Amino acid sequence: MHILGDVFGLSEEQLKEDICKVMRNLFRRGLISALGGNVSARLPGANAFWITPSGIFKGELTPEDLLKLDLDGNVLDGFGRPSIEWPFHAAIYKVRPDVNAVVHAHNPVTLGLALAGIRLKPITVEAVMVLRKVEIVPFAFPGTDKLAKLVAEKAASGARAIILQNHGVVALGSNLYDAEAVAETLEEVATAQFVAMALGKEPPVIPEKEVELYYKLYGLGR
Ligand SMILES: [Zn+2]
Repeated sequence: MHILGDVFGLSEEQLKEDICKVMRNLFRRGLISALGGNVSARLPGANAFWITPSGIFKGELTPEDLLKLDLDGNVLDGFGRPSIEWPFHAAIYKVRPDVNAVVHAHNPVTLGLALAGIRLKPITVEAVMVLRKVEIVPFAFPGTDKLAKLVAEKAASGARAIILQNHGVVALGSNLYDAEAVAETLEEVATAQFVAMALGKEPPVIPEKEVELYYKLYGLGR
């Protein structure tokens, strides 16, 4: 486990610093509030992950605030309480060996479109290349096994982003910055789509043929 991390030039200490940095970025961008949102990450292939705590101001977390859990939610390292959303983080890692970071934020525009029953469209290159597959799950209470099960089902189907109806978003990445990019791109695309629609226009999309070409060129699956 440790050796794998070293091969990728990533240590657990660096991972913890990066989790805090991602939380600061999300807070500054208005994608999470003082006590909302959570982020987790693991060294590639590990059966344990580091996650943000519950009940601590999210804009200025330090590595000492984080907790290490196994995939059943047992605390292996750290103090305090882990985020109540740990069950869906663990559920994602169980079904997606390619995912090493999970970001949960409360993107207001992405959520607004979902509440209005409007799906995100492939309107930008980032929507095609970064988001790839966006799924939505119906409301389930935060922290419950029911929510974890709904999220795991969509994750297993290959989703890169999952919108939690009446709640927020979950972004999956091969590493922390990949997952952060997915969360931020969701909001970018939702905002651009919203502006076009607010002006009474149906935004043109990148043609399916071009989308297929992108995936082929970059060897991306959907
Ligand atoms: Zn939340």
